Amino acid sequence: MNHIQYKEWLSYTEDTLDEGTREHYENHLYVCDACMSLYLEAIEAMEQKIPVMSTNATFTDEVMQKINSEQKQETKVKTAKLSFFQKTIVHYVVAATVTLFLMSQGVFSQLMTAVTDFEASNKNETSILTNMLDKSASIIDKFEMKTEKGEQ
Ligand SMILES: [Zn+2]
Repeated sequence: MNHIQYKEWLSYTEDTLDEGTREHYENHLYVCDACMSLYLEAIEAMEQKIPVMSTNATFTDEVMQKINSEQKQETKVKTAKLSFFQKTIVHYVVAATVTLFLMSQGVFSQLMTAVTDFEASNKNETSILTNMLDKSASIIDKFEMKTEKGEQ
């Protein structure tokens, strides 16, 4: 078995190898514990070599990603608000259009005449009721008159 050298593992961790070599090294890792330990050493060396750089880069990346996602969320909220506003406007326009249409068709005037008719019929009913009350009152008056006459 051809083992892979520590230097080669270093270049593997630096990701400077071509794809074929990288695949060959990865396959070798599955079957060789000695090279696996070399590979782990190379990783540790890499981490000690560029600890500040790598953490800074990832930190900046994370911050940028968070900012980007927050901005996306903000725009989502904005668009949601905007769409709600647009929907409200659409509802107003629809309501106004329907109102204008009904007005042009004379529906409201018909409704108004219906209401006045209803009120008029109500007035008739009340007048009938007052008539009945008047009649009963006059009957009571007549009865009282009669009893007064009888007493005399
Ligand atoms: Zn090996």
